[in-house]
Amino acid sequence: MSAPVELKLFRSIKTGKGFIKLINNLKDDRRKNKVLTKKREVLTKRQRDLILQKTDSRCHICGIELDSGNFQADHVKSHSSGGKHTENNYLPSCSTCNNYRWHYTSEEIQIILRLGVWAKTKIANDYILGLEMANSFVKHEMGVRKRRKVRKENV
Ligand SMILES: [Zn+2]
Repeated sequence: MSAPVELKLFRSIKTGKGFIKLINNLKDDRRKNKVLTKKREVLTKRQRDLILQKTDSRCHICGIELDSGNFQADHVKSHSSGGKHTENNYLPSCSTCNNYRWHYTSEEIQIILRLGVWAKTKIANDYILGLEMANSFVKHEMGVRKRRKVRKENV
């Protein structure tokens, strides 16, 4: 069995600058390979029900309980990378996971997850770097909340 793609990529990374280059190369590749597809089709109620049943009404990323009124049909292969509009290409997700997954490639998601777990551990255990990261993250999130609030007020 061959090693996962992410591990192959990571094996060649020896420095922080190399890691930054890898992240940017993956982003550039994603943009280059973007497929201009037709307008998105709307899923039928039956299709949505079938998708929700795949995970016993749980978000396929975080596992939170979902119902037919609050779940999003998440593309497994993104629409922008040519993912098909068939039930096989969808899994149920909560809006938070679906919005953060965005149209990242599998390799990018693996890096983001790995980075997120590392950052969480640093915040919990490493006082100086962890506190700096926590402060920066909270400041960022407060900005996001503020922008969302302004948007809602303007609707
Ligand atoms: Zn979720």
